[in-house]
Amino acid sequence: MTWTALTGGTLVDGTGAAPAQGSLLMEGDHIAAIGVIEIPAAARQVDCIGLVVAPGFIDSHSHSDLQVLENRREKLAQGVTTEVVGNCGFSVFPARSDRTALHEFANGILCGGDDWGWPSAADYLCAARESARLVTVHSLAGHGTLCLAGASRERMLEACLEEGACGLSTGLMYAPGANVPFEELERLCRVVARHGKIYTTHMRDYSLGLLDAIEEQLELARRTGCRLQISHFQAAGARSWELQPVALERLERAREQGVDVAFDCYPYTRGSTVLTQLLPQASLEGGIHGLLERLARPVERRRIAAEMSSGMAHGWGDLFVAAAGTEANQRLVGMSLKRVAAERGCEPAEAVFDLLAEEQGRVNVLEINQSDGNLRQALAHPLSSIVSDGFYVRGRPHPRLYGAFAHLLGGVCREWGWLTIEKAVHKITEQPARRFGIERRGRLAAGYIADVTVFDPATVGSPATYENPCLPPTGIRHVYREGVKLI
Ligand SMILES: [Zn+2]
Repeated sequence: MTWTALTGGTLVDGTGAAPAQGSLLMEGDHIAAIGVIEIPAAARQVDCIGLVVAPGFIDSHSHSDLQVLENRREKLAQGVTTEVVGNCGFSVFPARSDRTALHEFANGILCGGDDWGWPSAADYLCAARESARLVTVHSLAGHGTLCLAGASRERMLEACLEEGACGLSTGLMYAPGANVPFEELERLCRVVARHGKIYTTHMRDYSLGLLDAIEEQLELARRTGCRLQISHFQAAGARSWELQPVALERLERAREQGVDVAFDCYPYTRGSTVLTQLLPQASLEGGIHGLLERLARPVERRRIAAEMSSGMAHGWGDLFVAAAGTEANQRLVGMSLKRVAAERGCEPAEAVFDLLAEEQGRVNVLEINQSDGNLRQALAHPLSSIVSDGFYVRGRPHPRLYGAFAHLLGGVCREWGWLTIEKAVHKITEQPARRFGIERRGRLAAGYIADVTVFDPATVGSPATYENPCLPPTGIRHVYREGVKLI
């Protein structure tokens, strides 16, 4: 058995307890001892004086379903050793043999080609165990994917959970999830509750309709008893900022009444999404083809434009093109929709419609979503786990993909002083491990798996910006997964 001792560091054990000086001893793939301990003579010693020794980070909201299999290093470079994928209704299973509709549905988020999809949770999780060498992969079953798979959704969900999926995710802002009646969600949440797993949701609305959206999800949890995790909690768009404190109060009150609800959030005020999300849900029925057909009819076109503008909590100057597929539109990347419209000499809504037609619906958008005060309140809230919610794009991704965890420890904790290091570490280790039923990870304790991230608290940080996002973090010094040194 190989022994590795990380000596003389500051131990931040994941529980939220105050940091303590000491050493950590790993034996093979697990932690043998921690604290002021005797180091066996045969142990390899790694000097960690001046460094923080923490559990490997858990990204409990990731869209790297496909990229974890390719061993992309963006997350590992931040100290992440476990990822929960299958979020927001998008999972890579269960897929039926004709996967065209699934690819059209999910490629904007999963950044895949035309060659992916697994018939069952067991197949995907097995592929992940065999191929993913940098992180441990857990996956939710995505409700959108279940809808496209055809057969009985409850039975398919049941099978997914039995085969090791850690819960169910919904994406109620996107078709097909958006069109699903409450009763179906209730039936599915009952299945989740019966298995003791978690239900995570990208709710119907995060801006002007935030409170109703939260109420609906709380009602599901009340009726079914399932554990509820609100995904990327925020009040998006300046017109909705005042709703956030009210929304948090509702979550707190529900908890007092026995609902097991919590949420995740990412440490940035700007978000990234797809351009179609600005449109009224009904206009997207039948996918991009349905939309383009509707837009070809002048009356419909005016109606959709009016509905879009009145429902928006953002100003057009707060929305930026992040990625587009065609060569001709590359010059728009980084430009606000307000400016795109001005350059084209048309109304912003018209510019959106034209862009969607030119790109067959596939345009990614960066949006100024949150105020600093709201972001701080959400990150510091006892119910929040902190996540990347990162996804790959062909073009310029959101900097959270490269830097969420390092930015949390450097920018948010050290520079802004919003959170203590032990609190921040808790929100990316033990807290998500508990929520998602991830056993023997997320904590530095004897008998736990030896997933360990060592960073320099003075230099940890992310230089990734919205303009130049593809930069690796600084200050992550050593990363071990199952006792194996990966960084
Ligand atoms: Zn989402």
